[in-house]
Amino acid sequence: RTREVFAEETIDSVCPFCGVGCLTSVSVKDGRIVKVDGRDGPANENRLCVKGRFGFDYVSSPQRLTRPLIRRDDAPKRGDISMDLGNYLDYFREATWDEALDRAASGLKAACEAKGGAGVAGFGSAKGSNEEAYLFQKLIRQGFRSNNVDHCTRLCHASSVAALMEGIGSGAVTAPFSAAGDADCMIVIGARPAQNHPVAATYFKQAAKKGTKLIVMDPRGQDLMRYAEHGLKFKPGTDVAMLNAILNVIITEGLYDSQYIAAHVDGFEALKEKIRDFTPEAMAPVCGIDAGTLREVARLYATSAKSIIFWGMGVSQHVHGTDNVRCLIALALVTGHIGRPGTGLHPLRGQNNVQGASDAGLIPMVFPDYRSVESPDIRAEYEDAWGRTLDPVRGLTVVEIMNDILAGGIEAMYIQGENPAMSDPDQAHARKALASLKHLVVQDIFLTETAWHADVILPASAHAEKLGTYTNTNRQVQIGRPCVPMPGEARADWELMIEIANRLGLDWSYDGVPAIYEEMRSHMPSLNNISWERLEREGTVTYPADGPDEPGNEILFGQSFPTADGRARIVTTDLVPPDELPDEDFPLVLTTGRMLEHWHTGAMTRRAAVLDAIEPEPVVSMNPRDIKLAGLEIGQEVRVETRRGAITLTLRADRDVSTGMIFIPFCFFEAPANFLTNPQLDPFGKIPEFKFCAARIMPSAQR
Ligand code: SF4
Repeated sequence: RTREVFAEETIDSVCPFCGVGCLTSVSVKDGRIVKVDGRDGPANENRLCVKGRFGFDYVSSPQRLTRPLIRRDDAPKRGDISMDLGNYLDYFREATWDEALDRAASGLKAACEAKGGAGVAGFGSAKGSNEEAYLFQKLIRQGFRSNNVDHCTRLCHASSVAALMEGIGSGAVTAPFSAAGDADCMIVIGARPAQNHPVAATYFKQAAKKGTKLIVMDPRGQDLMRYAEHGLKFKPGTDVAMLNAILNVIITEGLYDSQYIAAHVDGFEALKEKIRDFTPEAMAPVCGIDAGTLREVARLYATSAKSIIFWGMGVSQHVHGTDNVRCLIALALVTGHIGRPGTGLHPLRGQNNVQGASDAGLIPMVFPDYRSVESPDIRAEYEDAWGRTLDPVRGLTVVEIMNDILAGGIEAMYIQGENPAMSDPDQAHARKALASLKHLVVQDIFLTETAWHADVILPASAHAEKLGTYTNTNRQVQIGRPCVPMPGEARADWELMIEIANRLGLDWSYDGVPAIYEEMRSHMPSLNNISWERLEREGTVTYPADGPDEPGNEILFGQSFPTADGRARIVTTDLVPPDELPDEDFPLVLTTGRMLEHWHTGAMTRRAAVLDAIEPEPVVSMNPRDIKLAGLEIGQEVRVETRRGAITLTLRADRDVSTGMIFIPFCFFEAPANFLTNPQLDPFGKIPEFKFCAARIMPSAQR
């Protein structure tokens, strides 16, 4: 209240953290944010979670980068990262903008001259705006003739997008999460919305309280199970067994919608044949859910008038992630639970703009709006627009880029707002790759673990300091506005991309963010009828919109699908085990993820005082029974090892973690969970198996 009274102004914006996209009112005094409140946005109706409400002070952290930095000639060898800000000047020296930008661009250019586009790669950011994502992919494609451009969607929902594009011709959600309130039945699988999409979770809880039958499927117990009709703690990595058993019941008991299938779906006969052996009795020992429960769940989902499915990275981050999503798509298609209010498929998107960044083409195989880089016609359209010949072959993905660096391929990278030195699997490997680059440019707001590897560091803008649009998990395009000035000499990300582009000889000129948005929109039919002026006026518009004054379409695919023939396609699946199963040496299953208070690699929330005070140290969670059996004590320091590395953290008891499992959040730089994780990829989405690898645990003293 006191802070409200003294605030000088309040600015309408959008939350910088998760894909829910809560609209905010940001109160500012003396150039600093003093308070954040929720506004009446379509995704939050005035609500905010702890991150959105209390996680703002990272913006004014004294650790913000304020001047361009260049690696010193006498710096310690690359890869020796300190994370001690007291001695960063042993590694880097301050530089003028001109010197830093010239150095940044010339190193990238040199790699391109030596090896062509194959010598360069870029990681953009799902935390940046749509305009930044569009410019970044344009810069890599036009400036270096390379499609080696990707971002963290590769680490979260790439497998979901692969399956959705293949099955229904669109990678975005078919209905918003508020559709839970219209559903008679909803499945939440491999997602922990109370931690990762907290405001969306309030909609799910409200729906359940009002009578929607909630089915929660998660190898770890969770808060939402208290509201559920069925809580299925299935064995990790057995999604396909469980889901195919449910499909088996729906088909053998005739609970499918034959009219809908005849009108809209291909592949049903093949599915019928494939799931014949996936009986609940056969799959119960595989997935750990008894046959009776599998039957009840199948009947509930199929016979409810309106059923909807939500999923998260528990589904996608597996070597069989695409297969998992294929099963979910098959469930919706055989029952006709798609295209009507209260039905649909909704991958809960993680970062605030991972939907928008993907839509804007920040991925190696497609231009904006998921149009293939390998199509000569589409490529010709961009070559005309951008005045250069473009790379005709799809680029490498996040983990492939790291592998290619170590194989002697890529020599230089431009990384904007992404932190692969924390987020990539098998960190020892990923950091070795970053250290092996001949030239690394990092554009960020903090000296992140990745920035410590850089040759040039460009201090950039925080979300609260810039104008831009962000697309949330519901396909709502929303405006974020500058609330406070940038610190020191920091500059807007889009301006820095223009500076680099022009040093590559591209002659870019944009007179502001609206001009970038309009150019991007000219390549994106999905944004037809959503002009910058309209966004300014309405603040948030769902795409696609049928007219400039028509509200966007929240529910998609009632009549047909955006495929060549308008029909959806079921793709059948087999049992594919996790890549690395527990054994005598490594008897536990390690799974990783996020926590309520911390956001992804922690670069922002670890520097937010309230959030870091609540969760200040790295922990590994284990079932109390396993703790006792292992002779460990709650609160003691333990060492967790996998075949790729070891970290030391504090042991926490958690009954939600099944016996035989351990859980580690990946946000703590002091003990990066990704030193342990398995980089093996799903063959379709190229997403690593963050959710399953073999591990062991011991007192830290015992080595
Ligand atoms: Fe921000 Fe997500 Fe929390 Fe909303 S639910 S306040 S968007 S972190």
